[in-house]
Amino acid sequence: TQPFSKNSRPNSAKAYARAQPLMPGGVNSPARAFGAVGGEPLFIDRADGAYLWDVDGHRYVDYIGSWGPMILGHRFPPVVAALEEAISRGTSFGAPTEAESELAELIIECVPSVERVRLVNSGTEATMSAVRLARGFTGRDQVIKFAGNYHGHVDSLLVAAGSSAATLGQPNSPGVTAGAAKDTIVLPYNDPEALAAAVAEHGDRLAAVIFEPVCGNMGVVAPTDEFLTALRSETRRCGALLIADEVMTGFRLSLGGAQERLGVEPDLTTLGKIVGGGLPVGAYGGRSDVMAHVLPEGPVFQAGTLSGNPLATAAGTATLRALRDQPPYARLETLAGRLEFGLRSAAEAAGVPFTLKRVGSMLTLFFSKDAVTDWESASRCDTERFGRYFWAMLDRGVYLPCSQYEALFVSASHTEEDIDATIAAAEESLKSVA
Ligand code: PMP
Repeated sequence: TQPFSKNSRPNSAKAYARAQPLMPGGVNSPARAFGAVGGEPLFIDRADGAYLWDVDGHRYVDYIGSWGPMILGHRFPPVVAALEEAISRGTSFGAPTEAESELAELIIECVPSVERVRLVNSGTEATMSAVRLARGFTGRDQVIKFAGNYHGHVDSLLVAAGSSAATLGQPNSPGVTAGAAKDTIVLPYNDPEALAAAVAEHGDRLAAVIFEPVCGNMGVVAPTDEFLTALRSETRRCGALLIADEVMTGFRLSLGGAQERLGVEPDLTTLGKIVGGGLPVGAYGGRSDVMAHVLPEGPVFQAGTLSGNPLATAAGTATLRALRDQPPYARLETLAGRLEFGLRSAAEAAGVPFTLKRVGSMLTLFFSKDAVTDWESASRCDTERFGRYFWAMLDRGVYLPCSQYEALFVSASHTEEDIDATIAAAEESLKSVA
């Protein structure tokens, strides 16, 4: 199997050559450039249901779903209808609309710990604002995050020391100042002792602990019960806020997100992706006494020209309503379970060392024989083999996330036939990379 060749996808190659001088890496978000799998990106022409078409006319079964939002598939008819209806009345007013209350009501109804909410434009804005609010509310500076958890490109959260020891943050992008990173403490995921030790040392200066309740950003890594219990008890003990970053898991792992599925009670929750139904929306919300600190009710500043945008709220509302009224979660569990079983059998038959982790409709096939529980174990995967598998699957019409350290998403628009075709592609692809 050949990596992406200019001969087989000439229009993508042309589009990429055009884009590169215009935008850094030819893209507007780095993962799209396929850097982690060593090749050139596909340019997408259109999407429908569970499928993407590239500019050369090839069709792919899509397991990225725009990196999470498209849980109901592309061009889900109620979302398209809601957008058409909204656009007929104008695209942005910079003034309050009832559509914002409609989406806010749905979020509050669905997500157990959210009593009040503020709409923003991305997951990054949601986590940035939640951390600021936690600092403003507690009057403290320090934040704990976990290595391998991604919370968007917020300066103070763009720190993942990659060490399994508790370390004070080192920025991991040029441009993030030591000052912005110095109040961030990075700990290993799934390590309740490290958390307890950090809280014992820093607790009285700790504003918040932010975490992915099921991690998708080092591949799928599930939290242990002990870790979840420690997160809640340690933050309560020291008076820090617990922030569940559900940008990826919100409305995906259940209608109420990972917190409903796992019984976690965060003080604040950040949302993105599905909450916008494929348009740019993020949200942060939680305890009403904490949310009352946000301007104009309270002193913590946060604003946005396009926040609560009519098109974005229309798409989000249509999506959440569909998820509430015809919940796809049982079907997603069945489809993703079928995919899990097929991939396991295919990897075993091919003799490829692997670990597979699935939670609901999020799944990662890790090219490592050892369990993956944190960043340290995740980083032992054979990413070179993953890259070959990725291209082998792409050539067989399956569009996977272009990195070992991402989750694959099953959507409600996938069919059993799509899943079985994907398994057949994986049987061949895994043999070819064994
Ligand atoms: N938090 C998590 C858990 C995420 O997965 C992401 C995006 N993948 C973000 C925050 C950032 O969201 P956005 O890309 O919308 O800024």
